[in-house]
Amino acid sequence: PDVAAKIAAGEVVERPASVVKELIENSIDAGSTQIRVDLMNGGLQLIRVTDNGSGIPLEELPLALERHATSKVSVIDDLEQIHSLGFRGEALASIAAVAEVTLLSRPRDTEQGAQISAESGRISNATPAASPVGTTITVRNLFSAVPARLKFLKSRNTEVSHCHHLLEQYALAYPEIRFTVTSEGKQIFATPGDGKLFSVLVQVYGLQIAEQMVEVDGDDEHEDDGEYPRVKGFVSRPSAYKSTRQHISFFVNRRWVLSRMLTTAVEGAYHSLLLSGRHPIAVINIQIDPSFLDVNVHPAKTEIRFLKERRVFAAILRATRKALLQEPE
Ligand code: ADP
Ligand code: MG
Repeated sequence: PDVAAKIAAGEVVERPASVVKELIENSIDAGSTQIRVDLMNGGLQLIRVTDNGSGIPLEELPLALERHATSKVSVIDDLEQIHSLGFRGEALASIAAVAEVTLLSRPRDTEQGAQISAESGRISNATPAASPVGTTITVRNLFSAVPARLKFLKSRNTEVSHCHHLLEQYALAYPEIRFTVTSEGKQIFATPGDGKLFSVLVQVYGLQIAEQMVEVDGDDEHEDDGEYPRVKGFVSRPSAYKSTRQHISFFVNRRWVLSRMLTTAVEGAYHSLLLSGRHPIAVINIQIDPSFLDVNVHPAKTEIRFLKERRVFAAILRATRKALLQEPE
């Protein structure tokens, strides 16, 4: 691929976990209830994501790999009200610029599947192929043509743990999806997909910690106020677990985000109740009208900006405090 394509790819694809993120977001957007991720050599040799979502018809396979081809936003006005995780149509094209990519897919209502592959930015013809319902995307030899990027990456274990952490976050955001993750053929993470956040907490933190967490539910007098963020989740009471800020997860409209402001709000609730010492473990889901989000922050990044930051801060602080004030069971 040309230099421009490689530079554009660098925006989206920093390391194996960035590829995994884009692929599973696509699987989620496709309505999948089962997502499987297989990694070899920390994702550098192979990343394979298999889902049971809507699939891609043969004639749309070439488009899926083309830059700025997205099936998700029809008019630019829609950008204010994005509900899908992807909308730029850049991810697959960017990944194909720095790896060998194969798509195998079959929509539910078609007899036969189809596949297509891309190598060094060259896209093959789509051909019929046997496939289960859903989509399997295989990414091989990531960055093998970008030695500068390879040199920047850490050990295989570090890359696996980045992928693992990311998948834990998505599993927490989507308890109704059954996630299975393997590395070198061994299962390293799995969730039941029973729709219960608690079940995912058990897989991520263990039963003992999950049982010590209290439910956060900020819904009260603001029930009918569409401008007020809805806050739900779980937060730990102080425990012996050596938690760090990494153990506070936030999802805004089901998108995983990192935000110092949100972390400070949860910690603020802790400190205001004189629960000092360690960081809490928390999973906080925020539902907010998308028009209160700044959409100009690069969507591939996990940062977020709110237009009414103080209101969000206050909502989280209140909901977390209320949860921590409950009597332990
Ligand atoms: P975006 O997600 O921003 O639309 P992508 O490059 O990530 O762009 O994907 C391009 C298109 O390929 C998507 O719009 C979608 O139509 C299709 N696609 C990609 N992955 C899947 C999948 N797992 N299941 C169904 N369709 C998919
Ligand atoms: Mg996408």
